[in-house]
Amino acid sequence: MNSPFEYRNCPCCGQNDFEVLFESNMKANDLYKSVETVYMIPGGRWGRHVKCRNCNFIYVNPVGKASEINKAYSQRKSIDASIIRENRLRASKSQVELVRRYKNGTYLLDIGCGEGFFLFNASRAGYITKGIELSQDAVEYARREFGLDVEAKPFEELRFPEDHFDIITLWQVLEHVPYPRVILKEVHRILKPGGLLVASTPNIEGIPAKILGKRWWNIRQLHINQFTLKTLSTILRKVGFKNISSVSYKESISLLMLLLPVLKYLKFYESLKGLSHPRSRLAKALNKMVLTYSSKLDNCTVIGFK
Ligand SMILES: [Zn+2]
Repeated sequence: MNSPFEYRNCPCCGQNDFEVLFESNMKANDLYKSVETVYMIPGGRWGRHVKCRNCNFIYVNPVGKASEINKAYSQRKSIDASIIRENRLRASKSQVELVRRYKNGTYLLDIGCGEGFFLFNASRAGYITKGIELSQDAVEYARREFGLDVEAKPFEELRFPEDHFDIITLWQVLEHVPYPRVILKEVHRILKPGGLLVASTPNIEGIPAKILGKRWWNIRQLHINQFTLKTLSTILRKVGFKNISSVSYKESISLLMLLLPVLKYLKFYESLKGLSHPRSRLAKALNKMVLTYSSKLDNCTVIGFK
């Protein structure tokens, strides 16, 4: 029988020597049965987390086959877009400010651009933008709502010319991909000399992760790499980036975005469906109440130059 899983060497250093941190709670047929929403539902499914004895990188091993992972993402629906829209637009303004602080330039590529909230603000700031996104639904949203230039293909299949982009961004992408070094090598190739990479992922050494352990919202089925500032910087250095440093931007979350996963988790969700309807008055009010915080609280955000 064909296994739906495949084993990987350490995605950071390439060795195959690890200790198991904790086991998977999934059955084989749980794998990609459904792709999760953007909500941070704690206590879901997760894979077997291991830690590399050589470089301390924490990763899931084994993982679902790359082709299956890509298929699952291409079918992901943008059902939450109207709920997250205002928040993502707010946070991505701060992400654009971060990019501008470190690099003037023209051509910006965002890999895994989702519904295009960041790209929309980047194009308003004057960048000529391009996006790549697997979810067909999200691509349609980005084109329809913002008129963005977005391609619905895996990054591996797009061969951009060498030395092409001034800036490439990877917001919450590297934790999802089985072979991050392959992606980062290609990113390095297509950046112009002096070009800027910004990569942001959840931080398994952040305060929420330390407090919540396995119940941390970023321990979940589709997060197959768990970075720290150190391992994210190391992996960038290994593919050739220079002047790597840790940065931050202003994250934001609304009370509605906080509340919905809690209700789902407590199984109240079905009886409170009205709340999840973005046009209900209560939902609108809760979505206007916003908490902002430094991305450093829960994320590693690192920049590097070619
Ligand atoms: Zn390693």
